[in-house]
Amino acid sequence: MFENISPVDGSLISEVCEGKQAEINQAVAAAKAALNGPWGKMTQDERSAILHKVADGVTARFDEFLAAECRDTGKPESLARMIDIPRGAANFKVFADLVKNIPGESFELATPDGAGALNYSIRVPRGVIGVISPWNLPLLLMTWKVGPALACGNTVVVKPSEETPTTATMLGEVMKEAGVPDGVYNVVHGFGPDSAGAYLTQHKDVDGITFTGETRTGEIIMRACANDLRNISFELGGKNPAIVFADCDMDKAIEGTMRSAFANCGQVCLGTERVYVERPIFDEFLIRLKEKGSQLVLGKPDDQKANFGPLVSKEHQQKVLSYYKKAVEEGATVELGGGVPDMPTDLQAGAWVEPTIWTGLNDDCSVVREEIFGPCCALLPFDDEYDVIRRANDTDYGLACAIWTENNSRAVRVARQIDAGIIWVNSWFLRDLRTPFGGMKKSGIGREGGVHGLEFYAELKNVCLKV
Ligand code: NAD
Repeated sequence: MFENISPVDGSLISEVCEGKQAEINQAVAAAKAALNGPWGKMTQDERSAILHKVADGVTARFDEFLAAECRDTGKPESLARMIDIPRGAANFKVFADLVKNIPGESFELATPDGAGALNYSIRVPRGVIGVISPWNLPLLLMTWKVGPALACGNTVVVKPSEETPTTATMLGEVMKEAGVPDGVYNVVHGFGPDSAGAYLTQHKDVDGITFTGETRTGEIIMRACANDLRNISFELGGKNPAIVFADCDMDKAIEGTMRSAFANCGQVCLGTERVYVERPIFDEFLIRLKEKGSQLVLGKPDDQKANFGPLVSKEHQQKVLSYYKKAVEEGATVELGGGVPDMPTDLQAGAWVEPTIWTGLNDDCSVVREEIFGPCCALLPFDDEYDVIRRANDTDYGLACAIWTENNSRAVRVARQIDAGIIWVNSWFLRDLRTPFGGMKKSGIGREGGVHGLEFYAELKNVCLKV
């Protein structure tokens, strides 16, 4: 058993059973057996219809999912109501519909006897998929994997983050009510090393691991999957830049940067921690961002006025605060925040930190190079396009970038040169689930979203039929 602690006030939310080798063995065996049970015999239409029912089941229990997600993460209800829960449900419908409409390919081959041969491709499930997910958007990021995995006919064993165990468990109830056969969706709680996470990645009957989390955890999982040559799909860390050109629409750029730096208390993999601002507008941008940042309202998830919650845990609070300290040591001017806010007595045991803006840092500082995953950003002036592209790309990561300019030619030119899997122009976090999602460099391996996830969730076979 381990304790699930509230990041809002340090209280005990629940006690959670920790799965070890025996529980992983049981779950993987159930998932393997289910591939040859009713699930494996269903038509695509039947499977897709059940996944629609799963989505409807989440929506029918919307308020319960919302309350559970906000209890585990501490995030404002207003945010989870718009993003976490509706998108968590949508992930089932989108992929259920998508897989029904994907064509295969075929080639006619001429042969010396003149009769020819016909090649055609078909997709089959990969098998048992291990899903390891993080705590920042627990339901959304888990169903982002479970949705396509099940739509393609696989079965899954899910290991949610130890910080946020509740909604993955609730989803099991919804699955059962929707008619998902036993063994198709399995959840084992626990930690990484010497616990459910590691045992899942090491299990020889798991045919692929899809993982979202830190880059260094990805390296460990990749090593585990090298045994028995099991496939992987990775969505990892980032140190994402925003580039704000002097010809931007300042209102849009401020609004977008506020969200990309501070939404979900900065715990969004696509969030911005480096903001390059063209020098002529640097001072105005700083004043306006500070002003907006100072208007953020900290509070409990159910406080309707609050739009800024705590970090996910005391442990993560210590990590973020260590970077706040380091920023000052590295010469930052703290323009906003920089510490622990003064919270009411009943919330003082929570994992609160202030939204923070720094200036005066250079590109080599660790706070400008390392992923912090907190509500903070460094504002850095730049003078020309060529140079800012070089600086934006001067990182081990390559997940996302936001470009703010009203000049479309510039936007197209810069977007092509930025090393990132996802680039927004004049927006941030605007997601079309049909589009590819993933990172370059140390931000990931493979793409999920749309048809691209099929590379991982299905095996493509070619049949060559001699006429
Ligand atoms: P984490 O790597 O610490 O943990 C993620 C999951 O992996 C958890 O379920 C954890 O229990 C498990 N885990 C840890 N060690 C393991 C091991 N040795 N073997 C198997 N499983 C193990 O990440 P986190 O702190 O939960 O999440 C934050 C990180 O996730 C940040 O780096 C963030 O950028 C990244 N992230 C990336 C994306 C993306 O789409 N690229 C999305 C969200 C979060």
